[in-house]
Amino acid sequence: MVGGSPMQAVLMAPGVKDRKVLAFKRDALKEKDAVTSLIRSIVTSSPDQRSAFYVFDLAKVVDLFRTWRRALPDVRPCYAVKCNPDPALLGALVALGAGFDCASRAEIEAVLALGVQPRDIVYANPCKAEAHIEYASEVGVNLTTYDSEEEVAKVKRCHPKCELLLRLKGPEGGEVRVDLGTKYGALPEEVAPLLRAAQREGINVAGVSFHVGSGACRLDVYREAIEAARAAFDAAAALGMPPMRVLDIGGGFVAGATFDEAATVINGALAEHFGDLPCVEVIGEPGRYFAESAFTLAARVIGKRTRGEVREYWIDDGLYGSLNCIMMDHYVPHPRPLASPRPGEKTYTSTVFGPTCDSLDVVVTGYHLPEMSVGDWLVFDDMGAYTTGAGSNFNGFATSDIKIYVAYSS
Ligand SMILES: *Cc1c(COP(=O)(O)O)cnc(C)c1O
Repeated sequence: MVGGSPMQAVLMAPGVKDRKVLAFKRDALKEKDAVTSLIRSIVTSSPDQRSAFYVFDLAKVVDLFRTWRRALPDVRPCYAVKCNPDPALLGALVALGAGFDCASRAEIEAVLALGVQPRDIVYANPCKAEAHIEYASEVGVNLTTYDSEEEVAKVKRCHPKCELLLRLKGPEGGEVRVDLGTKYGALPEEVAPLLRAAQREGINVAGVSFHVGSGACRLDVYREAIEAARAAFDAAAALGMPPMRVLDIGGGFVAGATFDEAATVINGALAEHFGDLPCVEVIGEPGRYFAESAFTLAARVIGKRTRGEVREYWIDDGLYGSLNCIMMDHYVPHPRPLASPRPGEKTYTSTVFGPTCDSLDVVVTGYHLPEMSVGDWLVFDDMGAYTTGAGSNFNGFATSDIKIYVAYSS
């Protein structure tokens, strides 16, 4: 970080410094009220802003980074780009000193374009296309994950200088929002054979990674996974392999009280299982933690139908757009009208549809809202994780058309 406060560094960051940044006051206002009033000022001062947009608060990322550093001082965060690849978010994280978890050629290109050094990137996709591995080789990204023998052979062919992290399957029963263990990770009995496969090919295994699942609630999964990681370190030593030096504890973190609890579990488990290996570099791959609460969506009411006491509204973002998180990430929407509620205001049982002509495109149903009109706005909080990055162009509604206002609260 270069001079000044972290916020100053973020404002000068690539991906941020060429954007207009709106300042707004958090003051005595509750956080949500502050964002709400910023959104109000955007819609009143820019009459051209007649479609859905985001507000991204850089100060949130600065705060979350500080909290991470305090809670997990020995774990370097390598932000998982897939969670939200917005260049201003990536740039802010560059300025704060994060590393990056990339899963594809395009993600590696995006972070390199922001000035990130290849050594600060972990290519954390256990199963990669050959052309993408060759690209990693060209640009010098030399650390990737694997959980199959096929992958070792491919890395040997396409990028023999690359080092590996053996991805372990996370523990069961983490009560997670999104389970990744159904797809990735070596089973305990596969660990030794996978280590031997790398040894045979002469590819160095630098360490171990895991991902307990996104949005983990049962935090003991971190302890169990760290214990299993230590067993894999010991298995490599028993095979006469060079000492492992990287432990990648993956992502799954949720900002707030659960994060503090997770950090306590992790610090305890690191002391217990890795206390005798002080040279091991510990990294994490948080995605949701940094992105989720920093983005707020405002969607505009573009249509309305009244059926007796029932109200139906159409808005200009939906399940095929950034609200795909309802289906893909189990996001539970609690939209609130942008207009201040009036005391004693009557509410109606309402359905809110997305804009496409598909009947699956329903945002909420049986939801209580005051009477709204075409041109009114609904606000969705905590919309930064697995939203814009996974939207489509279905039916001619392009997710990338949703404008993102970069802002910072103080
Ligand atoms: C998606 C993913 C992450 C980020 O997970 P979060 O739950 O958003 O923290 C980290 N690492 C890998 C390998 C991933 O696939």
